This record gives sequence, C-alpha cells and structure tokens, in this order.
Amino acid sequence: MSFSDLGLAPELLRAIADQGYTEPTPVQAKAIPPILQGQDVMAAAQTGTGKTAGFTLPMLQRLKEFANTSVSPARHPVRALILTPTRELAAQVQDSVKTYGKHIPLRSAVVYGGVHIDPQIAELRAGVEILVATPGRLLDHLGQKTVNLSQVQFLVLDEADRMLDMGFLPDIKRILAMLPAKRQSLLFSATYSDDIRGLAKQLLTNPVSVEVARRNSVIETVTHLVYKVEAAAKRDLLTHLIKSRDMRQVLVFCNTKIGANRLAYKLDKDGVGAAAIHSDRTQGERMQALAEFKEGKTKVLVATDIAARGLDIEQLPFVVNFDLPGSPEDYVHRVGRTGRAGMTGEAISLVSDEERDDLAAIEKLLNIKLPVQEPGQFERERVSAPRGGSRRPESRPEPRRDEHRRSEHRSAPSRSVSPRAPAPSADPLFSRPYTPSSEETQTAKPAAPARGPKKQIAALFLPPAPAEKQDA
Ligand code: AMP
Repeated sequence: MSFSDLGLAPELLRAIADQGYTEPTPVQAKAIPPILQGQDVMAAAQTGTGKTAGFTLPMLQRLKEFANTSVSPARHPVRALILTPTRELAAQVQDSVKTYGKHIPLRSAVVYGGVHIDPQIAELRAGVEILVATPGRLLDHLGQKTVNLSQVQFLVLDEADRMLDMGFLPDIKRILAMLPAKRQSLLFSATYSDDIRGLAKQLLTNPVSVEVARRNSVIETVTHLVYKVEAAAKRDLLTHLIKSRDMRQVLVFCNTKIGANRLAYKLDKDGVGAAAIHSDRTQGERMQALAEFKEGKTKVLVATDIAARGLDIEQLPFVVNFDLPGSPEDYVHRVGRTGRAGMTGEAISLVSDEERDDLAAIEKLLNIKLPVQEPGQFERERVSAPRGGSRRPESRPEPRRDEHRRSEHRSAPSRSVSPRAPAPSADPLFSRPYTPSSEETQTAKPAAPARGPKKQIAALFLPPAPAEKQDA
C-alpha cells in the first residue's frame, strides 16, 4: 500500500516524500482512512509505530480548508487540540505537525510548563489552528483566558494511558468541558486498562478501533534479562555490566527522583558518565541532558517514568530497570524505548528480593517468563569484598500529577529558565526511519545480548539455572 492509496492530499504526499517515507506503517494504514472520513478513532499503538503521523496527517487534511495566510488572529482560531502527557512528547508532536504540514498554511503552537508562559501567550494571541499542549499548562492558559477552545473541532489524546497514570484525569475532564460537543475525537494509548476504556466511552462516539500490537505487548526485537541481586548491590552490578560490556547508550529507570539523582551521581563517580532527568529538573536541564545522551556525550541517562515517557531515542540499545516499576504496564512503556524501528535492543532488570511480586506481575501481564541470569561471580566477589555504607532503596515515589503540576507552576513565569521552548525541529535525533516489523509480537526472547561482547559476560557470570531459562 502507498500513501496515495489512503486518499491524502498532494501537499501531504509531498511532505511525506520529503521525509523519505515510502509506505504507511500499519497504524497509519488503519487509522488514516477512518479519520479522513471524520470518524472517531481509538488506537492501541506505542511510540515508535508511526502513530504521530497516523493522526497528524489526516488532521492536517481535515483542517486544510481553513488554511489561510491572513494576519488577522480572528482568522486563526484553535481548531485542533492535541493533548500529551509530557513536555518532550508535546515538543515532538509539534515537530511532526510542522514537518507534515509544511506545504499547508496552517499555524501551530506548543504549550507546556517549565518554561516562561509569555512567549506562549504572544503566539496564541497571534492565532493558531493547531495547539499541542500538556494539560497543566493548557489549564493555566485557560485560566488566564489566553486561549479560547470554543472552535475546536478535532481533539487528540495522545498516550492517554500515561496521562491517566500521571493523574491528569481531572484536568482532562475540565478541558473537555470547555470544548464544543460536536467534534471529532481520537484516543491513542499504548496499553488498555479499564480506566482508559471508561475514558474512551465518555470521549468517543462510535469509535473505530485500530490495533497494531496486541494489548500490553512488548516488541519482538527486544531481548529480556533479569538479574536477581540484593538492592544494595544494584549499583555495583550496573557499573560492572556497563563497563564489562562496554555499553554505550543506556537508559536506566528509577522509581524516584531522589533515586535517579543519586544513581546518576554515583555512576558518574564510578567513572561512567551519567545524567538524570526527572520532573524536578527544569525543562532546559532535561533537554540538555537528553541532547547530550543522544549525542553520546553521556553514556547513561537515569530517568523516572514521567520524564522518559514518549522519548524517541534513535537506536537506543539498552534499557535498564534499576528499580522494577510498581505498575507492570510501565515495564511495557520502559522496554518500548528500545528495539524500535526494527533494531534489536536489550531490556535488563535488576530485581531484588523485595521486588519479586512486581516481577511476577510483569510476567503475568505479558504472559511470559523473563529469563533470569544469576549475578554469580559478581555476587561472590562483592560478598568477599563488601563496600562501606549501606544503600537503602528509595521510598518516595515519583510524584503524581498534582505534584508534577506544582513544579510546573513553580517554574512558570517567574523562573529564570530558558524563556523559549527549545526548537524541537532542530533536533534530527527525535526522528528516525521506521522499518516495518511484525505486528504479532509476544515472545520474550531468551537472554542473548543484542549488543556488547558476549564473551565477557560468560566469563563473569554463572550460567542461569536451567529451570529459569524458559520462554513463553
Ligand atoms: P512515532 O511512533 O509517531 O513516535 O514515530 C516513530 C518514528 O517513525 C518517527 O521518527 C517518524 O519519523 C517515523 N515514521 C513515521 N511514519 C513513517 C513511515 N511511514 N515510514 C518511515 N518512517 C516513519
């Protein structure tokens, strides 16, 4: 199938050709036709499937008739609203809107917290047809009456599951109440909980369901590996793995901001270049840490779930769960950062005794048994030469959305961070080519490392117990 078979306008086909895309991804092939026909859509698709173009292209086509070059703000009311859970994702979506809409004179803007609000107000005053926003900052604008949503006819909730996880539901409801009832609505979500289905029921009218990966699936190009290790030994094991396997680009997940900070600091002290991103860091700091990671200046990026959501990092080879996520759906999200666009990736989880139940919940959700590697030799060396000081696992979780929101407020107008949103389109690493891969992808592969010198592992660790080396 080609893009022209989907009924897209010539201006869009040109923008697609400029990107070098030759054929639609599965989610695009399934979602674009009903959206073009004006239907509501509920799509199960993760980041990396091409979902952004899947809603952006038909949205641009639906709005094309309103495109104009008038300087009058009145000629540019907000007609489409795209809500995303995080600032980074909002920036990426806005980048796509600009990329695919470059031959159509529709205006777009992105608003999110952590940066000065004034430039956003100026942009909104001038008039934009397409607004990409995080809920908290959008409510700030609505409160200040710097945006009017009464003409919105097209709504997208992107990564809706994450928005609910972050506690955005009340905000979403407040925003929905300010939209015209007559509109086309789309809901994209990587995972489907009952809460999401409930929200979809409220939001969508006779939606077309689009599914390109099975519910709560993990992609087949990712190999999974679990190390059972004491909580206090996790950092040493991680340093050891990174050094011995010469791992170069590692996204590490911690459950808390303090834990992420501390781990990044300690890894750095261990001689492994590391930085942390989480919601207490300013947007400027987050963007810089991400840029340095993508450029390879920093080997390890330690992140919390909120900060890492939606990141599209080109060819990310390793994801490490330093802490197992409290919710098994988050394992799917975390692991989805690697093994994208047909590349191989490896998901390593460091699991302490206390996390056994979390591991069981993940295995239940995925309906697979994750292969286990005993720390073996590493553990024996550690016991015979213990390090000073005890490391307690962190207990304060990443804040729910309210707290996150407060930090957005704190850093809003008065804060001396970069006054402008960084220009996402200037960062080519947010995009990478899509390679079609299988849609039915449920088997966790056994622990064959995707990258890194295999031999070193074999020399350092005892082989896994046969009973544990099982597959789905
Ligand atoms: P997304 O799932 O929206 O985050 O998209 C993932 C990546 O796939 C983005 O970097 C897009 O540039 C890329 N992409 C989207 N559609 C296509 C396509 N039809 N062919 C090749 N690459 C694509």
